[in-house]
Amino acid sequence: MKTKNSKELFKKSKEHIAGGVNSPVRAFKSVGGTPIFFKKSRGCYLYDEDGNKYLDFVGSWGPMVLGHSNKAIVNAIKKQASKAISFGAPTKNELEIAKIIKSYIPSIEKLRMVNSGTEATMSCIRLARGTTGRKKIIKFIGCYHGHVDSLLVKAGSGAATLGVPDSPGIPDELSKLTITLEYNNASELKKAFTKFGEDIAAVIVEPIAGNMGFIEPDENFLKTLRSLCTKNKSILIFDEVMTGFRVARGGVQELFNIEPDLTALGKIVGGGLPVGVYGGKAKIMNNISPDGPVYQAGTLSGNPVAVSAGTALLKQLKNKKMFIELEKKGEIFLKGLKEEAEKNGIPFCYNIRGGMFGFFFSNKLPKNFQEVSDTNISMFNKFFRLMLEQNVYLPPSAFESCFLSTEHTQEQLMKTVKLSSNVFKNLNNG
Ligand SMILES: *Cc1c(COP(=O)(O)O)cnc(C)c1O
Repeated sequence: MKTKNSKELFKKSKEHIAGGVNSPVRAFKSVGGTPIFFKKSRGCYLYDEDGNKYLDFVGSWGPMVLGHSNKAIVNAIKKQASKAISFGAPTKNELEIAKIIKSYIPSIEKLRMVNSGTEATMSCIRLARGTTGRKKIIKFIGCYHGHVDSLLVKAGSGAATLGVPDSPGIPDELSKLTITLEYNNASELKKAFTKFGEDIAAVIVEPIAGNMGFIEPDENFLKTLRSLCTKNKSILIFDEVMTGFRVARGGVQELFNIEPDLTALGKIVGGGLPVGVYGGKAKIMNNISPDGPVYQAGTLSGNPVAVSAGTALLKQLKNKKMFIELEKKGEIFLKGLKEEAEKNGIPFCYNIRGGMFGFFFSNKLPKNFQEVSDTNISMFNKFFRLMLEQNVYLPPSAFESCFLSTEHTQEQLMKTVKLSSNVFKNLNNG
């Protein structure tokens, strides 16, 4: 496979863009090699600068649930752009998308639009602190909530220790306020509430974790979380930036029938343009300015072009069954991969919900960050590189989820299973 142009572009980009990329995972640091530079996409395919064509399992990290260059979305963007690109003033479009979002996710009574998932979670944290008058927040090790100062924190162990920052530039004074706990560990959670209960403004969680591979919650874990937050008057924030309109139309809260107080959305909600949303109970949302004292604003928030793309996507999710069909299709694919792996004596397990899935080189599904780290990561990295050579574009890290679209056909997926046969053979040979 020719990658000369991508290599050259990466080399030049590094002279002008920090690290050569505008978001770190794109640099292929964990899997090795140099990133592919893309120039076109259609349906489930990506086309790069060297003329290669790939079957895509990243889907722009989620938004491309209807495949790339969906006609209705492209047309909506064109139509809106020809009318107006931005006002920095209210439009009817924002009202329309707000109603659609609320109808799909009923726990959202009022919402605010922002420009990214990071902005959505950041605003949730400020609002929770402003509403409760408390400072401490709980997050779970391995959950990613964007690059918000208070949330870029995990602890070295699963113990309820006070946070150590993950990145320089975050003052201890701030990270101390973030308590990090092990995912799926209800007893640790109970202990933390016993100790800090009255100081905890909010708990933020990826209700299905998508940023340490794909990890489902134990049902008991989410239920405990809900009841402890209610009992202690702490605000429960579901970060559904990745899972919203993805694992089911109404996100994880629909799948498990558990209502958070606030929900953060991103990715799909903008149809591929930069949009985030946060919303929830009206009583809490009313505390945001201009009605309330908690400040949050955005020059381009609710941008008409971005909103038109999001609306065009969401309107096409009318039929909830779509997600069951995506899951069925993915399940067959993953079962095929597992069979190929096992023919070669390679431990392989997977999990899927709707159009989002993960697989691990391990005999059993991991339940938390530590268990993910204990799976065979170097084998994933090799698998990634070998599949890439077969024109299959997987997420370039074992700690990311994979994404399926309505445009992936069973035929393409079974072809990929066939391709994987040789790849698994080679994985074993050194
Ligand atoms: C992607 C993601 C974010 C951050 O969204 P950005 O748009 O990249 O800022 C936050 N939370 C979760 C769960 C995500 O997957």
